[in-house]
Amino acid sequence: MRKKIIAGNWKMNMTFDEGQKLTSEIVNMFKDENIQDVHIVLNPPFPHLFPVKKLIGDTPGVYLGAQNCSDKESGAFTGEVSAKILASFGAQYVIIGHSERREYFKENNELLSVKVKQALEHGLTPIFCCGESLEIREAGTHEPNVKFQLTDSLFDLSADEIKKVVIAYEPIWAIGTGKTATSDQAQEMHFALRRHLGSKYGKDVAAEISILYGGSMNAGNAADLLSKPDVDGGLIGGASLKSRDFIEIVK
Ligand code: PGA
Repeated sequence: MRKKIIAGNWKMNMTFDEGQKLTSEIVNMFKDENIQDVHIVLNPPFPHLFPVKKLIGDTPGVYLGAQNCSDKESGAFTGEVSAKILASFGAQYVIIGHSERREYFKENNELLSVKVKQALEHGLTPIFCCGESLEIREAGTHEPNVKFQLTDSLFDLSADEIKKVVIAYEPIWAIGTGKTATSDQAQEMHFALRRHLGSKYGKDVAAEISILYGGSMNAGNAADLLSKPDVDGGLIGGASLKSRDFIEIVK
């Protein structure tokens, strides 16, 4: 059985007090709703990680993630945060290769491959993001484009390693735009990616890997997207900043 995961990507939002409030609300609502079979992951900016971890406490089903990590393990890399440091104070997940990192910080497949390995080495679950631009979608080459992102960054992992990776398919044209992929478009890509993973690692391994959808998922469209057999959860930006919206998606 694949894990169902709803991850909130706060991006560069939330002051300290806002982050505390949002976390407390989410944790309390999650407990009140008595939700059992979904993992939620909160991915705040770095300075929030430890205080958010304290608020999560030992709440079952609620996990802590970072939005990025360094490709280096430690040393003289001013401004960087390593997977080793993240793991040392209780982070369990880390988002790697978000399209904003690829675009604004020029992160390429090769670098992301190293980051994924750093995360795995320190026991973090990488949420590896992939997705195509509008231009590529319109040219109709989205499927090979996104498959290649997996091949290039992940396919030198062993079967045991790849099973620990979570994939997030995020079409760039749907991120923060209010323009969601249809549930059929999401299913089509998730199915293609799972088959691609299967071609390298075998069907059984591919069947164990959670593939999340991201891009303007909200309380209104989540049920439809998540009803698809290969959509195992969501990576949520805007709608993760409001506790009620986020919990509605989880429900
Ligand atoms: P969005 O962001 O939900 O605001 O579109 C998703 C993401 O970038 O992870």
